[in-house]
Amino acid sequence: MPEPAPETVDEIISPRWLIPMAPAGQILENHSVVIRDGRILAVLHNRELESRFTTTRHTRLDGHALIPGLVNAHTHAAMTLLRGYADDLSLDDWLNDHIWPVESKHVNSDFVADGSRLAIAEMLRGGITCFNDMYFFADQSARVAGDMGMRICIGLIVLDFPTLWARDAHEYMDKAVQVHDQFRTEPLVHTAFAPHAPYTVGNDALRQIAVYAEEMDIQIHMHLHETDSEVADSLAEHGLRPLARLKELGLLSNRLAAVHLTHLDDNDLEMLSTYGVHAIHCPESNLKLASGICPLKSLLEAGINVGFGTDGAASNNDLDLLGEMRTAALLAKGFSRDATALPAAQALYCATQGGANALGLGAEIGSIEVAKSADLAAIHLNELDTLPVYHPISSIVYAAGRRQFTDVWVAGRRLLEQGRLLNTDLTALSKTALHWQHRITAG
Ligand SMILES: [Zn+2]
Repeated sequence: MPEPAPETVDEIISPRWLIPMAPAGQILENHSVVIRDGRILAVLHNRELESRFTTTRHTRLDGHALIPGLVNAHTHAAMTLLRGYADDLSLDDWLNDHIWPVESKHVNSDFVADGSRLAIAEMLRGGITCFNDMYFFADQSARVAGDMGMRICIGLIVLDFPTLWARDAHEYMDKAVQVHDQFRTEPLVHTAFAPHAPYTVGNDALRQIAVYAEEMDIQIHMHLHETDSEVADSLAEHGLRPLARLKELGLLSNRLAAVHLTHLDDNDLEMLSTYGVHAIHCPESNLKLASGICPLKSLLEAGINVGFGTDGAASNNDLDLLGEMRTAALLAKGFSRDATALPAAQALYCATQGGANALGLGAEIGSIEVAKSADLAAIHLNELDTLPVYHPISSIVYAAGRRQFTDVWVAGRRLLEQGRLLNTDLTALSKTALHWQHRITAG
């Protein structure tokens, strides 16, 4: 019997090291990823490749590691236009005296579209293929992400106070449902409710969000236990810590992705674990705002799923998830005084599959496995900054810089090629950033 002819596929990628993150820590050599219709059709040894598949696009990455695209599990993309606007302040002073006033003056649909474009370009160049956003005019962020081919989970923001986006909790809720419906057929746009924080959203709206999230089958993305004053104020106002209050309101479940969690007692930890709440750790934002330190080792030991986020560029001040991963690994060790806390492979897991799980997208992205979307990032390790390479995952987590990402694919479509962002005019992007700087500086 003649051998069957090899199947024609869209692209084959053959990296020096293939790091599927399924299971975490595995490193495959002499393996390739086969892509068809935006999905991973096969992960196989190179000796089987020729007889089974053929393509006009075979990408050989001889000095690279191929990893699942990084998932930035918490950001406010449009705030990239406020990078460096107000630094070296506590969260309260930063929000009340600087960020909220400037936002109330300038944030509109153009601000969000331009800021999101800038943020997405920065993230794609840094190996990020999906981000979990929380901001106003989320329809604009979704539109821009769609134009640029980036995967986004838009936060359907809810607050009790008026902004240019909505007047009160009712209008925020109406708009949330509207925006969700508007994008429900877009394969790269996902949605989550995004009640801003326990201190900015009242009980009625929170109760309603718990019910709607269940009906709409989407996640809830919320800042939680960010500072000690948030916890103290909640005790004073509600007689409960924020997590306990959310429990009463029916919000604790594996739909909830809780961002920050820097102030936790044993009871909080137990609740997070019992209800399967996801933790999103943003160490650099927490450090810069001196909010506190998330006890990552304790969270992981309690079996809580963890993803990493950069937070917005106004508080970080970059959208560098690779850097965030290193900070998280170092901080977990220093804070727990245990050098074995958050080893490199676990850090990379949190930055990929952990983040995907928190967004409710764990079956679609987060690892290089057959049938998942081909959201991939290639990082060049054969460079002075990372040579020699004894352990590729350690090289990525502890030594590499984000400029070493050379190629990025989202749903099989290449968006970054040999370090060059495709379909994006960087000169025009820079001009737009400066235009906003002048406008904001002028007041
Ligand atoms: Zn945030």
